[in-house]
Amino acid sequence: MKIGIIGAGMVGSAAGYAIALKSTASDIVFVDQNADLARAQAQDIAHAVPFSSAARVTAGGYSDLSDADVIILAAGVSQKPGESRLDLLSRNAAVFRSILSDLGPLGPDTILLIASNPVDIMTQIATDLSGLPASRVIGSGTILDTARFRHLLGLHLGIAAHSVHAYVLGEHGDSEVLAWSSARVGALPLADFAAQRRVPITDDIKRQIDTGVRGAANTIINGKGATWYGIGAGLERIVRAIASDEQAVISMSCVTSHIEGIDTVALSIPRVVGAGGVGADVFPELSPKEHKDLAASARSLKDTFEALTL
Ligand code: NAD
Repeated sequence: MKIGIIGAGMVGSAAGYAIALKSTASDIVFVDQNADLARAQAQDIAHAVPFSSAARVTAGGYSDLSDADVIILAAGVSQKPGESRLDLLSRNAAVFRSILSDLGPLGPDTILLIASNPVDIMTQIATDLSGLPASRVIGSGTILDTARFRHLLGLHLGIAAHSVHAYVLGEHGDSEVLAWSSARVGALPLADFAAQRRVPITDDIKRQIDTGVRGAANTIINGKGATWYGIGAGLERIVRAIASDEQAVISMSCVTSHIEGIDTVALSIPRVVGAGGVGADVFPELSPKEHKDLAASARSLKDTFEALTL
């Protein structure tokens, strides 16, 4: 499998590093408008390869991605002082327009994997600009928020995060929805598991976990300026599901025709992913409040997308 990574900054390089260490792909090609950075990241990661896999890690141009199976888009510009969210979004939309035009026509089997923020809106932009079917334009969406939710629930319950099945839905951002009512541990609903283990799951504990999930990015940004390892591993997880045609259930963003009364909006719900991209959606059971919050999240994303001039 050949992976192109456009944007060799912190997120792109963390994804490339995870893919190389886990032998998820045989070829990894970095492309960045800063060609020196792309070359340096490729070299640095190539030096990790003898300890891990047999991947070829190089830097190149857009023409080197014509036969890539998956292209990760992790390029972006950051907010200028005083710039509105919508203006930043318009500039990031311009970055995607220029990248997708430089990439040229994409083969029908290409999968685009979007990491750039705001990831749901960027996923919808990439879907519109690329002309690929929605099932082949995947945003990392809430894969990271879901990992944070599972991590914190696992810590609280004293159980491996792998055995916690709990999802964050909707926007990767402020309006995201933690789906408490469908959370399970092993084969048990969360409340039953907690009762069996005599671990409390009170409203206050739920509030603390909710704050921990929602505030994780800011806490990390306060300490080191940005986040990259978690999302790098999340991108590798999605690439692995595609490479091995896993049909794995992962929460990620994709343009969805109808959800909670809203049509054509990119947001996250658990989805089945394999070699063809997104195969099906797996809508979890939700409480009336969670349905309402998910509808509000979808509405807010739809309004933002419609306010953009592409
Ligand atoms: P960064 O500044 O380290 O890297 C961005 C790279 O994009 C830079 O190297 C820059 O040269 C490149 N770039 C910009 N315009 C380009 C163009 N037109 N063509 C090619 N390359 C171009 O930023 P980062 O920390 O790696 O973050 C990248 C993106 O990922 C941001 O939008 C960030 O908000 C997002 N992010 C997403 C998640 C998530 O969960 N989805 C998590 C963390 C960060």
